[in-house]
Amino acid sequence: MEEYDYAIIGSGASGAAVAEKISSEYNVLILEKGKNLSLNQAKNGYFRASSLEDFEKNGKIEILSCVGVGGTTLLAIGNYVRTQEFELKKLGIDIEKELIEVENEFNVSPVPKKNIGERTNLFIENSKELGYEPRIMPKGIDFDKCRGCGKCNMGCKFQAKKTSLQYIDKAISNGAEIKTNFEALKIEKKLKNFTVQGLNDGVSETINAKNVILSAGGLDTPKVLNNSGIKTPKRLFVDTFVTIGGKCGQSFKDELNMAAYIPFKDFLVSPYYSERIIKILKERKIESERDNIIGLMIKIKDDSLGYVEKNSIKKYCTGKDVQKISNGVAIASKILKMSGVDTIVSTEAIGAHPGGTAPLGTTLDNKFKTEMGFYVCDASILPEAPGAPPMLTLMALGKKLGENILNSS
Ligand SMILES: Cc1cc2nc3c(=O)[nH]c(=O)nc-3n(C[C@H](O)[C@H](O)[C@H](O)COP(=O)(O)OP(=O)(O)OC[C@H]3O[C@@H](n4cnc5c(N)ncnc54)[C@H](O)[C@@H]3O)c2cc1C
Repeated sequence: MEEYDYAIIGSGASGAAVAEKISSEYNVLILEKGKNLSLNQAKNGYFRASSLEDFEKNGKIEILSCVGVGGTTLLAIGNYVRTQEFELKKLGIDIEKELIEVENEFNVSPVPKKNIGERTNLFIENSKELGYEPRIMPKGIDFDKCRGCGKCNMGCKFQAKKTSLQYIDKAISNGAEIKTNFEALKIEKKLKNFTVQGLNDGVSETINAKNVILSAGGLDTPKVLNNSGIKTPKRLFVDTFVTIGGKCGQSFKDELNMAAYIPFKDFLVSPYYSERIIKILKERKIESERDNIIGLMIKIKDDSLGYVEKNSIKKYCTGKDVQKISNGVAIASKILKMSGVDTIVSTEAIGAHPGGTAPLGTTLDNKFKTEMGFYVCDASILPEAPGAPPMLTLMALGKKLGENILNSS
């Protein structure tokens, strides 16, 4: 049976970046639970989990991620901001060089003026008038291809969005192999090497590797760790958000979401279109259309309080989380009112950045190693909620681990 130098579990933001780095020197096998999804079919990879089993009674936080080659980067809306650099530095991890590398490879730059839509311009004008300091979002999008359809979270029909597929393609051209529809369940140490036990299209299979990198994302990594005998702490964060909005007297064209934002200490406010607003208004007997809705997302740095079990996720909003959301809603409401929205409604709480479930400094040392000697690298290793898009940092962390491995050989 073939033995690989490295088995990498998961092909998302961090896993793909490690694979790209080390595949030039090592014999790499990527094990991916999902299948190949083209960018315009990415919506088929959506995985929606509810934070509570009895949510009909208690309310819930809906947690989103993607199962498929490229991971959740396929659904991401192209925001590439720097976050958590200082928290990581405190742990002895400097990712400055790797951040620059990703930014250059993905041509990360603020949204050009010509691609900023009417709602976003209104948001910028009105928030400035209210004394806030909006910024233009840095995006990893090819703006010659982007048509501003506002559907980045479904994939990308125009192949404009930069995703981890770029790193997967490079890794494969370096000689890496990828096994899709393989769900890793457990990692075991066998003398100096490791085995990954999993299900290949539902059939048990064991992979042998000299080393393993677990990059299955914030929701699945803790399951594999717990199965492998490594107990994980109850520190799940999701960067909880709500979108508030309503009907406006004007008519707008479709546009790029989150093209601008206002950063605050514990949350950010950014223009975001949500179909839910139309449905919620309808329940209140207010008829609206896609073109006359304005929405603003309030995304908070939530408390790390929650955990993943075999078949369920427990995640709660703490009192502090509620306070942060309320502070954001108060500011966003003022901006919406100034933009001509009378009746403001809110979506349910959602979390699209699950992580913190195998943190550096607790489950891992600052070389990303577990007590068993294999590595973990994905959103689960972040020490606290970023309250901001984490993909750039996660890719940089993948590159950092790759470099550590190359430098130690
Ligand atoms: C709609 C949406 C929009 C977003 N937009 C942005 C954005 O614009 N900017 C930003 O920075 N962030 C964004 N995010 C968040 C960002 O995409 C994620 O934080 C990031 O991709 C997480 O990276 P990761 O490596 O931890 O996991 P993932 O990218 O989720 O990768 C994990 C991979 O592991 C695979 N896997 C899982 N379990 C197993 C298993 N047992 N065996 C084998 N494989 C397994 C999965 O299929 C997946 O491919 C968005 C998220 C969503 C849902």
